[in-house]
Amino acid sequence: MTGGTAVLNVDGRDIEVAIRRSARARRIAIRVDQAIGGAELVLPPRASKRDGIAFLKERADWLVDRLGALPAFVPFGDGVVLPYRGVDHLISHEPSARRGVWSEAGRICVSGQADYLARRLHDWLRRDARAAVSPLVVEKAARLGRRAGRISIRNQKSRWGSCSSTGNLSFNWRLVLAPPEVLDYVVAHEVGHLAQPNHSPAFWTVVDRLSEYTDFGRAWLRENGADLFRYG
Ligand SMILES: [Zn+2]
Repeated sequence: MTGGTAVLNVDGRDIEVAIRRSARARRIAIRVDQAIGGAELVLPPRASKRDGIAFLKERADWLVDRLGALPAFVPFGDGVVLPYRGVDHLISHEPSARRGVWSEAGRICVSGQADYLARRLHDWLRRDARAAVSPLVVEKAARLGRRAGRISIRNQKSRWGSCSSTGNLSFNWRLVLAPPEVLDYVVAHEVGHLAQPNHSPAFWTVVDRLSEYTDFGRAWLRENGADLFRYG
């Protein structure tokens, strides 16, 4: 049985909470997370939906506080500050320019009609992510004596990358918002899975060999990663 949603009415306000069944969960839990864009009720195998909703109701005030503290979603638009390669840039709409999208001196400039700004910027960031990720994958895989499969750049909602059992790698486009060292670490992590499909000590030894930024990258993502899911 999978999820659905529950709607909780708190002080006249409807709060939608996603419900997720988890075989691994030991007890009922509520997750409030930028990456999932709100709240999620996690139910272990034996808990009923009704138990879960009772649990939510008892914690309604806490939930409202936590949701209120979530940083707001930031859609792409003129004048918005966007981190790019770890440095804040101002998105600047240049309607009369005929240059597509480019970055210069702390700005990311987007030409063309305002209606297409978000779309154009999104496409540009995805291409940029691919251009940054691909050579690193090739280089790190070669150091391992492996070959990566297909590389895709995706809009994952909660993860930075993945490696399939057939060696295809996918990466989140938002990695270009993070400092380059973080991107380097995430590529090393996924390429490392070509040799070790787990997170064993042997895996981490491989990752350390492939990136000198492993500790920095992991700490940075723990601290700042969720924030990057606000943008788009
Ligand atoms: Zn992993």
